[in-house]
Amino acid sequence: MGGAEQKYVQEAFDTNWIAPLGPNVTGFEADLEAYVGSGMQVACLSSGTAAIHLALDLLGVGAGDEVICQSFTFSASANPITYLGATPVFVDSEPNTWNISPDLLEAAILDRMGAGAKPKAIVAVHLYGMPYDSDAVMALSERYGIPVVEDSAEALGSRYNGRPCGSLGSIGIFSFNGNKIITTSGGGALLTRDPALKQRAVYLATQARDQAPHYQHSSIGYNYRLSNVLAGIGRGQMEVLEDRVAARRANYEFYRETLSGTGAFTFLEEPEGAFSNRWLTAVLTPDFGTREAIRLALEAENIESRPLWKPMHLQPVFSECTSFADGTSEDLFERGLCLPSGSNLTKSDLERTVEIIYNTLP
Ligand SMILES: *Cc1c(COP(=O)(O)O)cnc(C)c1O
Repeated sequence: MGGAEQKYVQEAFDTNWIAPLGPNVTGFEADLEAYVGSGMQVACLSSGTAAIHLALDLLGVGAGDEVICQSFTFSASANPITYLGATPVFVDSEPNTWNISPDLLEAAILDRMGAGAKPKAIVAVHLYGMPYDSDAVMALSERYGIPVVEDSAEALGSRYNGRPCGSLGSIGIFSFNGNKIITTSGGGALLTRDPALKQRAVYLATQARDQAPHYQHSSIGYNYRLSNVLAGIGRGQMEVLEDRVAARRANYEFYRETLSGTGAFTFLEEPEGAFSNRWLTAVLTPDFGTREAIRLALEAENIESRPLWKPMHLQPVFSECTSFADGTSEDLFERGLCLPSGSNLTKSDLERTVEIIYNTLP
């Protein structure tokens, strides 16, 4: 926490606004709208997963539809597709961003269109805060008329050609889960350029109550709004977002400067025009054995590190799904490691981690 959060939470208590609406929700939305800019409208929700679910619903995804999803991601990018009775089609990554490959994306679109199953939407992900190639993805989105859900859960504070992540797709989403760059303990947001779409999102997120003195419903709704208490935490967190981004980027720089010389690691550089919040510092090791040796050596010292996300097309739960894979994300999963990346790591924490890694190398 940054310090100002308790002031906003106290306000919620003092004014007795302990509800999923109230001044903190409106204030947090205004803060996010000001931060992202370019006329984006923000609806704060109970989680990033809820935001993806609602985004797909708003785009008309339904039973029997196919939705393309980046394979190299956390399962919450893909799960909501199935909530709507639709089926995910997984697309592998490109090596220079680790995100959805525009070439494989086009191959997937053409294949599915050829099979008479034009995808209803594309879920693209800025993994670990690194922006995907939005120009290429949006060009395909426009060429084939398929909207993009921009999963920016890990990328608040990142930019692509100067534009904030969250504002690049047809609908954007953020997560404020406890592990993200800023947190409300649990929470999320949906972003759209269209005020009517935001209104519809809020309507669906509050049980789809029609305008009437009694309870009347003409749509199936959800209970997905963010609590006014948690939004108070979000308002305080917005005051330290830039500090958090700076701290995460400093972690990355420290690891790069201290570990590059060993020749044992590949770092994910920012492509031209990309600015990553470096949510997590993820490195590639030479092989699975080295990856595990480092992970276990750190674990023995009570330091947590983790393999990269296991691709969705390799997950047992999605084994029946169609995928367009060329081995890129499978290789990242085999060799990649997320290093300790908290915003509050001290210099000596980082030095200790790097020293253990040094001692593990042959
Ligand atoms: C965290 C995360 C989500 C889900 O957000 P929650 O707020 O935890 O529901 C979705 N996609 C990605 C890539 C994430 O990392």
